[in-house]
Amino acid sequence: MRILVVEDDVLLGDAIQAGLKQAGFAADWVRDGMLADQVLATEAFDAVVLDIGLPRLSGLEALRRLRDRKGTTPVLLLTARDTVDDRIQGLDAGADDYLIKPFDMGELAARLRALIRRSGGTAAPVLQVGDITLDPSAHTVMHGDDAVNLSATEFALLHALMLGAGKVLSRAQLGEKLYAWGEEIESNAIEVHVHHLRRKLYPELIETIRGVGYLVRP
Ligand code: CA
Repeated sequence: MRILVVEDDVLLGDAIQAGLKQAGFAADWVRDGMLADQVLATEAFDAVVLDIGLPRLSGLEALRRLRDRKGTTPVLLLTARDTVDDRIQGLDAGADDYLIKPFDMGELAARLRALIRRSGGTAAPVLQVGDITLDPSAHTVMHGDDAVNLSATEFALLHALMLGAGKVLSRAQLGEKLYAWGEEIESNAIEVHVHHLRRKLYPELIETIRGVGYLVRP
């Protein structure tokens, strides 16, 4: 799952990016509202962590522009303790949730998982396809009663495919979910990870739709 972090405080932005990576997200980070607006207009993210006080363009304005474009990406605002008005304006402008600084990294990750889950149209915290069960918060995958050991990338790939069960996802879409900017992507990386997943789970779980991408049936 790919997250855009918009935060001008360098120490905090760095800590959020590192914390999200540790929680299994791919996290990109920009430090001003104008850049956030440009990136959100052109790239796909599963959720946005958005500071309100930002240089060049406020977080609220970047959020309004996103919603004006009919962008539905879930947005979690970061606000200061004594700024109730910011939170009200933010929620009214289309934010989905907020956290008050300072916050706990574990709580941020859990709230993002909840937002992504709901935006995927499912309220269930644990995803199930056939006898495969994936628990995003515990980071575990079960095949029947057997725990399956997956790498972080394999887990993220399976998570994306199961969240989108019933939809064909292209290699480009999957690549966007798995990798942050600047991370090296081999041209056949997705194929290789799909191959590993089929071997560790079972081959028919992930169908190849020729010329389009991959499909997990619900
Ligand atoms: Ca700020």
